[in-house]
Order: sequence, then structure tokens, then C-alpha cells
Amino acid sequence: MHRVKVAASISVDIDSLSCYHRAYGLDSVASNAVYSRALPRLAELLDEFGIRATFFVVANDVVNHAENAQVIRRLSDAGHEIANHTMTHPFRITGLPRPRKIEEIAACEGVLSDLTGRPVAGFRSPGWDIDAELFDILEERGYEYDSSIFPSSLLVPLKVMHRLKNMARVSTTGMGSPWFSVAPTRPYRPDARRPWRRGTRQLVEIPVGVVPDVRLPFLGTFLVGTGWGLFRASLAWMVARRNPFTFSLHPIELLGIPEDGLDPRLARQPGVAVPLRKRRAIYRKLLATLKSQCRLVTVQAMARESRLEERGS
Ligand SMILES: [Zn+2]
Repeated sequence: MHRVKVAASISVDIDSLSCYHRAYGLDSVASNAVYSRALPRLAELLDEFGIRATFFVVANDVVNHAENAQVIRRLSDAGHEIANHTMTHPFRITGLPRPRKIEEIAACEGVLSDLTGRPVAGFRSPGWDIDAELFDILEERGYEYDSSIFPSSLLVPLKVMHRLKNMARVSTTGMGSPWFSVAPTRPYRPDARRPWRRGTRQLVEIPVGVVPDVRLPFLGTFLVGTGWGLFRASLAWMVARRNPFTFSLHPIELLGIPEDGLDPRLARQPGVAVPLRKRRAIYRKLLATLKSQCRLVTVQAMARESRLEERGS
């Protein structure tokens, strides 16, 4: 019997290089290469395979920057989804008071909907850091989905590792509650107070991709480090379990230190020390493989499908 392929999406968190400079405590001036080089490269690759992806945008990067705004408008015009990654990309947004949380979400939303002429349907929190109050705010504003919960067994070790690697010795990424490591690995409606559990919220959670059961991260950053064999095995498991997923990328993965004149200290970012030519080949193969085995849609489309399935079941 012919079965419909499992739904999957490519989601891109557009973190500018200044985010990484901040995270690693680098004093040098960050270039605009994420917008000027990485995004055009990624758009070209997606185009090659006819894939429509979801781009989570930090509105500060485009608000007074005509060229960056143009890059986002072009992505939107090409049929990609443009979604909310906050106004200023605060590390540890969950630590902010409620009015500041609202401001981060609402301001970004205003900028993006003006820019694209479309409503913003989804949110991804910086550093996968989210709490019940942020879910309340998103729900009040009519969001269709959130995609910030990272239900990985490596969540806690990654939190610790990130803290150790960070030169500034300040916490730069929250990654949410340790409970998120046991959240569902497929789209679900979260509980109002404990978002890592299934519940009755209106919006859908599309968890950041992890392999079901073993809960290994299924992400661009991880792929370049662990190699092709693990990617293939992970994908096979996703497909066998029919677990819809979003594969998350960061544009820095398509930048090279010598090739794009980046601060050499960014080599500590996983994968970035691998020659760019090699990474571009890996991503081409990755997209070709995902395309052949999954039905690639935007994250918004995944959220809508999961509601429909719920209604149908
Ligand atoms: Zn981010």
C-alpha cells in the first residue's frame, strides 16, 4: 500500500554573527555575512530542491537595514515562511518581566508583518528557552504554533557544555526547563502550566527535531559534527516511526572562517571549522535526502496538519 510520506520542515534560526560574538564573549566587530552571504547561499540550495522553509527572524537585524530587509522580503516572496525569533534575541528571555516578553514578541511581529504583508503565525525562542508565560502571550496574540521546546536527552549536558565553553562565563542560552528533555518528540498541544506535557492549549508545539526514543538532536549543528552515518540512521528511524519533525539550521553553518573573513575564534562553534566547500556538499546531500524521504512543508503547514489530524482522530 502506498503511504503518504512523513511531514518534515526545514527551520532556520537567523542568528546574526553578533549573537555568536556575544555568546562567546568576542570583542571584535561582527560582520553582516549571515545576511549578505549565508542566506543567499541557503536560499539557492533550497531553490535547487524546490523546498519552502521557515525562517525565524530577529527583527532588529532588519528594522533599520534596507539590504537585510530586502533579503527577508525576497524569501517571503519566494514562498518561504517568515516567523518570529524576537526583536533583540535576548539570551534567557524567560528571565524577563512579562511586559518585556510581550514587547520582544509584539515588536518583532509588527516589523515582520509590515515587511512581508502577511501575519506572523509562529515563534521560536532564542536558545530554545520558553516558559508557560511566553506560551500565554503567544496564545493571546493568536499564534498558531511555537517551536522552541528541545526534547533532547542531551539537553542538560548541552546546557552545561555551553556554559563551560562560553568565555564570558555568563549564561547565554537558557534551553528552557530540564523537563523539556521528556516532552513529546512529535507535534502536540501543550498543557497550560507544564508545556512539556500534552494538554489543551490552542496553539501547537512543533518540537525542535530529535530522534524519537533515543532523543538525540537532529539538527544541522549536530550533523556536521557527527557525520553522515548517524544522520542516515536518525532519519531512517524518524521515517519508520512516522514522527513529523523540523530540522533546524543556523545560517552560520554556511559560512567559512577564511572564506568569509570571520573572526578565527568562531572556530569554537561546532562545525564552523570544517571547510565551507565540504559543508556545502553535506547540506546539498542533506536536502536531497530529506526531500526524497519526507514531504517537506513549512512549520506553519505542519502545525495546521497536526490540528487536522487531531480533529480527524
Ligand atoms: Zn537564535
